[in-house]
Amino acid sequence: MKILMYATLAPERKYIEQWSKKNNVEVKCVDERLNAKTVEWAKGFDGIDFQQTHSLEPIVYKKLHEYGIKQLTARMVGYDMIDFDLAKKYDLIVTNVPAYSPRAIAEMGLTQALQLVRKMGYYYQRMDKLDFRWAGLESTEIYNLTVGIIGAGHIGGATAQLYSLLGAQVLATDPVKHPELEAYLTYTDLDTILKESDIVTIHTPLDDSTANIFNAETFKKMKSTAYLINMARGGLVKTDDLIAALQKHEIAGAALDTLADEGQFFEKQAKPEDIPEDYKTLRAMPNVLISPHSAFYTDTAMKNMVEMGLDDVVAIVNGKRPHYPVIQ
Ligand code: NAD
Repeated sequence: MKILMYATLAPERKYIEQWSKKNNVEVKCVDERLNAKTVEWAKGFDGIDFQQTHSLEPIVYKKLHEYGIKQLTARMVGYDMIDFDLAKKYDLIVTNVPAYSPRAIAEMGLTQALQLVRKMGYYYQRMDKLDFRWAGLESTEIYNLTVGIIGAGHIGGATAQLYSLLGAQVLATDPVKHPELEAYLTYTDLDTILKESDIVTIHTPLDDSTANIFNAETFKKMKSTAYLINMARGGLVKTDDLIAALQKHEIAGAALDTLADEGQFFEKQAKPEDIPEDYKTLRAMPNVLISPHSAFYTDTAMKNMVEMGLDDVVAIVNGKRPHYPVIQ
């Protein structure tokens, strides 16, 4: 069996080699993303595996079908880059890796939130001017805070555990309740979370019902001292409204691992002309932290992502049921 793996990262390679040896399956790694041009490389392979946030062009589905490929395996949680009507039309079974390491993302969110709470951006801005005074930057301690989780699934649940263990009061809203999480959080509604939380942390999928759930109206309902953490998907937050809310001091700051327009410049060595104005505006704010969609990037996550994705490619190629099919 031969599998082509798109958009492989250097740190994944050792896990891919280990898996390939253990399973006696040839895996070819390429750096490029799966797109209209690179799909042609899949000819002659039994299966493919990719990770990217960029949408797959319609021709990709058609060509994979022509090459006899039976699956689309995204070795990541999100699958909003896939058009399920086209996948169905071309008999492609979609799989993802639903929980390669929720802690990886939860810990990044917590790290960023603590930096915001401790006003680190303001310190760095002062220190860049050789100003080492701390007056005016009084902070607080985490167990004084209420944290509101929007979407307590794998990552939101892990986030709840972390904050709860640090002594914060944790609220959550989610249409699906998980009784095992009630040791760490209290379920409530979105409006209560917006009104009461000092940290609001988003962990829902991006779909028609959640797109832009954070907008001008939502920000007005938040405490002016509250921080917004978005480790999920850029499209959940209306970026212009976030900028306006920050400029009007309707909220105190934000940490963003994802941006709605990140496809233009994340995941590459960008040129100045690639960088959108909204990013520049946000990046210049001392109360905003941006990371390049890297919350997932830990050793545990890399290993699980590689192994769980490839196991499902093999299952489908062998006509067996994959562990993680995405049914839409
Ligand atoms: P999950 O499916 O386990 O959990 C999502 C939860 O959101 C579910 O419990 C669902 O019921 C809930 N939900 C859906 N709509 C909601 C709404 N309107 N209000 C409140 N809750 C709602 O998903 P997950 O694995 O925890 O992933 C969460 C998000 O994190 C996804 O958007 C995913 O794409 C993103 N993600 C980001 C990174 C990164 O590196 N930044 C890595 C992995 C995943």
